[in-house]
Amino acid sequence: MELTVASNNRGKIAEYREILEPIGFSVFSQSEKGIHFDVEETGTTFEENALLKARAVHQQTGGWVLSDDSGLQVSALGGAPGIYSARYLGLTTEQERRQAVLSALRGKNDRSARFVCCICLIGPEGKEHFFTGIWDGTIAMEASGENGFGYDPIFVSADSGGHTTASLPISFKETHSHRAMAVSALLAYLKTENS
Ligand code: IMP
Repeated sequence: MELTVASNNRGKIAEYREILEPIGFSVFSQSEKGIHFDVEETGTTFEENALLKARAVHQQTGGWVLSDDSGLQVSALGGAPGIYSARYLGLTTEQERRQAVLSALRGKNDRSARFVCCICLIGPEGKEHFFTGIWDGTIAMEASGENGFGYDPIFVSADSGGHTTASLPISFKETHSHRAMAVSALLAYLKTENS
């Protein structure tokens, strides 16, 4: 069975290939399927944005299509950066975006936050499914750690023993993160669907 990931991000494609090929899918990026446009993420939620991307690709390819959308929600910032995590305040680097979150939280007592990952899967018959993972935690007082990407140096998950995600081995994220939770729900669904 062929499955197209609605993305051209090489890391993301490789990750999904590793997860889905062992259960019988041949995984393609959207450009490998001849789709060269980027879908505008005009939704107001992670679900809407994931759906927009998956639908646009499904219209062209049919078959199985998967997309995801993820980000960091900080309670005291009204859920920001949220769906704008990759472009928070128009800042260009990840470091600037992390610093902006730390600055916005200065003097605030509530540092609770969560990472969210929403996967949208469209089946060959056009049925749409969602799998969401939520990873609760807090924002550290300062950035630390070298692993991971994005907001990992400032996120302390509730199950990390007080360490930022970037300070822990990558393997911790692979089994505990918002993405790991969403993927595990996706796999459970696909395994029952294909059994
Ligand atoms: P996207 O879902 O690949 O578009 O990612 C959205 C943005 O959310 C990323 O650019 C990061 O800023 C942030 N983000 C999503 N997941 C993570 C994570 O696991 N660690 C750190 N930052 C993340």
